[in-house]
Amino acid sequence: MADSSNSDVLGKKTNQSETELHEFRQLFSMSLDLICIADISSSTFLKVNPAFQNILGYAENELLNKPFSEFIHPDDIEPTRAIVEKKLSQGSKVINFENRYKCKDGSYKWLSWVSHPNPEQGKTYAIARDITDQKQMAKERDESEKKYKSLFYNAQVALFRTSIEGQIIEINGRYAEIAGYDSIEECMAHYRPQTAWKDPEARNEFLKKIQKTGSVRDYEAQIIRQDGTDAWILFSATVYPDQGHIEGSIVNITNRKQAEETLRQREALNRKMFANIGDVIVIIDKEGMNRYKSPNIEKLFGWKPEDVLGKSYWENIHPDDILSQKVFFRTLVSETDTVQTTECRYKCKDGRYKWIEFIGTNLIHDTDICGILGNYHNITDRKAVEHSLRESEARFKALHNASFGGITIHDKGIILECNQGLADLTGYSVDELIGMDGLLLIAEQSRTMVMDKIVSGYEKPYEAVGLHKNGNEFPIRLEARNIPYKGKEVRTVEFRDITEYKKAEQDKEKLQDQLVQAQKMESVGRLAGGVAHDFNNMLSIIIGNIEIIQEDIAQDSPLFSRVYEVKKAAQRSADLTRQLLAFARKQTISPKILNPNHTIDGMLKMLKRLIGEDIDLLWQPKRHLWSVKIDPSQIDQILANLCVNARDAIKDVGKVTIETNNICFDDNYCREHQGFSPGEFVLIGFSDDGCGMDKETTEKLFDPFFTTKRKGKGTGLGMATVYGIIKQNNGFINVYSEPGQGTTFKIYIPRKEESKTEEPVNKKRKTPKGSETVLLVEDEISILRITTIMLERLGYKVLPANTPKEAIRICNFSKVKIDLLITDVVMPSMNGRELAQTILKAFPDIKCLYMSGYTSNVIAHRGILDEGLHFINKPFSKQDLSIKLRQILDK
Ligand code: ADP
Ligand code: MG
Repeated sequence: MADSSNSDVLGKKTNQSETELHEFRQLFSMSLDLICIADISSSTFLKVNPAFQNILGYAENELLNKPFSEFIHPDDIEPTRAIVEKKLSQGSKVINFENRYKCKDGSYKWLSWVSHPNPEQGKTYAIARDITDQKQMAKERDESEKKYKSLFYNAQVALFRTSIEGQIIEINGRYAEIAGYDSIEECMAHYRPQTAWKDPEARNEFLKKIQKTGSVRDYEAQIIRQDGTDAWILFSATVYPDQGHIEGSIVNITNRKQAEETLRQREALNRKMFANIGDVIVIIDKEGMNRYKSPNIEKLFGWKPEDVLGKSYWENIHPDDILSQKVFFRTLVSETDTVQTTECRYKCKDGRYKWIEFIGTNLIHDTDICGILGNYHNITDRKAVEHSLRESEARFKALHNASFGGITIHDKGIILECNQGLADLTGYSVDELIGMDGLLLIAEQSRTMVMDKIVSGYEKPYEAVGLHKNGNEFPIRLEARNIPYKGKEVRTVEFRDITEYKKAEQDKEKLQDQLVQAQKMESVGRLAGGVAHDFNNMLSIIIGNIEIIQEDIAQDSPLFSRVYEVKKAAQRSADLTRQLLAFARKQTISPKILNPNHTIDGMLKMLKRLIGEDIDLLWQPKRHLWSVKIDPSQIDQILANLCVNARDAIKDVGKVTIETNNICFDDNYCREHQGFSPGEFVLIGFSDDGCGMDKETTEKLFDPFFTTKRKGKGTGLGMATVYGIIKQNNGFINVYSEPGQGTTFKIYIPRKEESKTEEPVNKKRKTPKGSETVLLVEDEISILRITTIMLERLGYKVLPANTPKEAIRICNFSKVKIDLLITDVVMPSMNGRELAQTILKAFPDIKCLYMSGYTSNVIAHRGILDEGLHFINKPFSKQDLSIKLRQILDK
């Protein structure tokens, strides 16, 4: 078939055709593309060029008359056929299509065909080009494009592409999300990055930077999202000037920013807290060097942190605390993960110390701290409180222990706590008592009763018998209460020794007896006083008359000695009366300057009578004894009382010694001897060899009503009276006594220089006479009469008056001048004192002498006769009277 068509062309222009044919043949075989002629009806190759061999690997004969379908990829047969048919039906002259051809080696190659069908000839002329490489590239490009899109749209990072001016070209979902949109489309439609920046200035800067450098990395910016909220983003972008766009990514760092802000705020807060908490935060390295101190150290201790940083931690610790701190530190450094606490004193900048509580923890392996992290907590106040608490506890303990009596807390009898008082009372130590059964402190006979009270919770005081460790029983008073103690109900008991109280009760009874006795004595005394008054009046009469008789009878008369005896008896009676008055303490004291030797001399007889015949009285007066100022009757009373006691102390026979002496104490002596005072004294020593006294008796000796004598025998007033008299005269008394060794009293009375006017005690006393006029007032007629005789015998002119009224009358009408008024004190109508005052008003020159057998308060002022008042005790002798008169009238 091909041959016939060629012969047609060749037939027309043979020569030229030959040449052209040859050229075409040449081109046909040289072509790099595949060229073929095919038969349309059979779809087989009629002619193929050598390129088929080169590209597909087939020789011409392997292809000729073979249908194409044998070579086309099965998948491409149908599409190829469809295109060709379609184009043919459309009447196309040229048909382009692509399909894969099988190579000889079994592989396929993409061929791009340009087919030119010629249906009239029933042939197709076609050229194909191997586009396998091109196809491969396109495929790869497609795949990469797909991959890119997928990456772009599915990226977790927000990606964008914009124009250089910032116009969005492409964005992904994440970007839209950050910008606040639900979809990419919406975002693309509405979002304008140019205006979304919160700070436009920042955006300009960003653009400048990116244009200058071509790219930016991690540029932080704040944008306003679609809903108006802020978002922090991190920009990274690159400019592609050739493509005219910017590509990049943004990351939403709002959360991170917020976290950072929170962290920053928290840190600021921490810093503030560090600065504001009262404590100091410290870091100390393991060598003990201060590495960090929080600023509060200044507030607490006055140091600035830099004052102590780099210095040794020990520098500011109180020297007494260093040892314990070193131990603490060592433990802390060696033990990780423990929190340890200690207390010590830390020096302030001003040198004072403050108590701190150091709470430390080992963070040596922590790279941030690498040391001891600690906390100084100021506990100075707490320490002070603790201290005062301890003090008050100690005070309470002291009080507890000082309280009179025992205090105990017991639980069903078992002593839980007690004070020293209980130990003192019972003879056990506090340690012994604690844990002991308290009933052991109660005597057998009281135990059941006490037990009953415990069981019934009795809360009123009651008495029982206590039992001392040594077995002694003693009266006690108990008072108990139920109290809560360490979570349970226990009993607190006050335990009191009432031995003294019991004794006092007995003493009270005794005292009652003594009071009765004293009252009895008082009434006896009053009675005695009253009797003595009358008795003295009688004696005055007796003695006065005897003296007159004595003067009237001759000394050799046998009557004389009888009368003398009568007078002596009368005088003894007067002495007795005086004693009686002294006992009744009704006499007035009128201190005189006197020599005690003389007074004692005068008493000896009476004293001897007091002590009885079985006891010797030794009298050892000191020669040239100094004088003292005292009422002689008081010396009498002292000696009388001492004698009675000595007599009672000596059983059968014995000896009493009275002595006197001059004694001088200087300051040094008095400093060493308690109870002595400096100065010159007359000593009256009084000793007996009686039974003596024990210490207890000596101590109570001077107490009023203290007596060891049986009822009715002693009053306990003797030594009290002695003591009172000595004190009244500014003296003092010491007693030296031992049981069985007798007793010595030493009485010291201050020396008083004698005055010349004082009555010289003269054995051979004179009876001075006078011629003055005396007004004598006495309600007792006999005394008036005998005293008148005495005065007249002494040479005086006497104006006797029986009543004060008469005396006043005599005074007013007397023609002679009256020199002296002698008056009795106690008279029925008017007392002597009032009488004297009345007379002295009119006649101030008249001198005055009071006489009384019983000196009452009427003439006594504060118990002591007024200085300047003259007084004579009834009964008096003519001689006593004569001396007294001259003392008054010669002044
Ligand atoms: P009374 O003699 O009435 O007992 P006192 O006051 O005179 O009272 O004496 C008190 C006590 O002092 C006496 O009961 C006695 O125990 C004791 N006493 C006084 N003087 C002596 C003494 N010389 N020797 C021993 N005991 C004495
Ligand atoms: Mg006595």
